[in-house]
Parts: sequence; structure tokens; C-alpha cells
Amino acid sequence: MNRAVLSRLGIALPLLPTTSVGSLPKPPELLAARSRYTTGAVSRREIDSLAEEATVFWLREQEALGLDVLVDGEMYRADPVGFFAEELDGMALGGLVRVYGNRYYRKPIITGPVRWEQPVTVGWWRFAQGHTAKPVKAALTGPYTLMDWSFDEYYGDRRAACLALAHELRNEVEALVAAGARIIQIDEPALSARADELALVRESLGIMTGGLDAYWIVHTCYGAFDTVYPGMLTLPVHSFSLALAHAAVDWIAHFGAAPFTADLCAGVIDVHASTVESVDAVRHRVEHTLPLVPAEGVWVAPDCGLRTRRIEDATEKLKVMVAGAALARAQQERGGSGI
Ligand SMILES: [Zn+2]
Repeated sequence: MNRAVLSRLGIALPLLPTTSVGSLPKPPELLAARSRYTTGAVSRREIDSLAEEATVFWLREQEALGLDVLVDGEMYRADPVGFFAEELDGMALGGLVRVYGNRYYRKPIITGPVRWEQPVTVGWWRFAQGHTAKPVKAALTGPYTLMDWSFDEYYGDRRAACLALAHELRNEVEALVAAGARIIQIDEPALSARADELALVRESLGIMTGGLDAYWIVHTCYGAFDTVYPGMLTLPVHSFSLALAHAAVDWIAHFGAAPFTADLCAGVIDVHASTVESVDAVRHRVEHTLPLVPAEGVWVAPDCGLRTRRIEDATEKLKVMVAGAALARAQQERGGSGI
């Protein structure tokens, strides 16, 4: 693991540390208020106050579950791209587009030069970190995915749009670091959308992370990874958060073909299934990665955000994840592979 980076940042973690990817389910009262907010029946202040309550609820839950690095749960976001599109000048929300199964999101439109005007996640990160002694990971959607998942009516060129977004989002990560965030995750679910654009992903992430002292994670959860592996290992981050539980791709086979040289945040919980995994299944998924990635570099996490699950199911899934990680950790500390 890039443990030297973490320890320089003052973060001590156990072997096989546990974390969530980002989003967690919103309580029904927050969901109801959010839908009334869109019709103007509820004020921004009211939904922000409910989102704060829900954030504190999830921080307490994560602490009780024994997670090592916490997330704010993204109670304030409707979806991963729409939120940033609404907050950035030069972007607007368009019509509904289907993304996964029966899930839809409002596809953003780039209508003019994109501009970051003020911090959009920093206040929420600071709020969350102010309510726990454990480290809270900051997370934001990356420039390549924002570009790939938006209609571009202004730049007319994918590279220009992506780099403009990267330069603007750089302000957000600078503000996160200034606020004290030490672990920052950039969500790039579209990372492998076009293999011939991996250099563009690399350049845009370089703009985001260059010269900033933080432990950087890139999260991606589906796609044609066989087309970007091992090239993706050259992205300027310390760790990759990957979906291994639900993956259509046999990551482990790829790791065998070319050594995985970064840290791995191993997704061992299928966020698309309501069925809760067994502790043993989690342990096996963790141990499956260990012959290929040194245990020192492995984190344990769900495949993706858990926001589409019910609160009870998400909690139960995180509980078995922590228990499975603990079994794998104990085995490692005894010095055996356990497989
Ligand atoms: Zn994801």
C-alpha cells in the first residue's frame, strides 16, 4: 500500500482497511422532501437540514459497524453527475436517460464555458469530518465521466470539454485539501468508455491531482476494462476502487497477466443485489485478491455506492463486509493465505 503516503498524512490504518465507496441510502423522509423540493414545496434549508441529520445517522452507523475510513454518504446529491452539473456554471440538466437496468438520470448539457464558482462538496465534507474522529474520505465525480455523460453543445470536442472540466474541478480538490481532506476519491465510472482516450483520462486526472498532498483513489465500476488494463495503472493516483463482486470482467485474470502495481480497493459487495452476502463469501473475495496484490495494498469496500439499496440491507451488507475483512485480516496476521 502507499502506506508511506498515508502515514505522512497522519493516517494509520489496519491491514485490509474497510471503507464505503461513496453513496449510501437516503432515509424516506429525505427522499420525500427532495421530491417536494423539485416542485418548490420544500425549501433548500429544509432539505439541507434533513441531509445533515441523515449524514450524522450514517456516520454513527459506520462507526458502530467498525469501518476504518468513513464517507458522508452523499445525502445532498440526487445523482453523481447531475449534482455537479447543477453546481458548475455552464452546465444544465437535460432530459431523463436510462443508465443501468431501470435507473435513470437527467443527462447534463454543457451550454457554455464551464466555471467552478464556489466549493460544492467541501462544506459537506467538513460537516462530516467535524462529527467523527475517524478519517472521512472526500469524493467527487471526475472530469472525464462528467464530459462523457453530458451532451456538449459548446466545446464541440471531447478533449477540450474534459480538460476544461478538469481545470475547473481542480479548484474543488484544492479547496478539499485546504479544508483538511487527506483521502480523496475521484469517481470515473466512464474510465474505460473509449480505450483510445485513456491518455485523456490520465491528463485530466493529472490536472486534478498534480502537486496536491493527498491519498488519491479513482473509482470505476463497470466497462471494458480489458481494453484499458494495464495502461490504467499509469493514471496519477495511489489506489483503484474496482467492482470485483459483480464484475463482468475477471479482474483477477487480468492482474495475473500484468502485475497490479497500485493499491486496490477491492469491491467485495454486490451493490445491485439486495441479497446479503455471507461473511465467508466476503472473506473469500478478499483472499482471492491477495496472491496478486500484496495484502499491504488492499482495501475492502463494496463494488460501488449503496444508495439504491434499502437502509437495512446496506447496513447488513457493510456489517458482513467488516466481518469478512476481519477474518481475512486475522488469517494474514497469522501468516497464512487462508485459501
Ligand atoms: Zn461505482
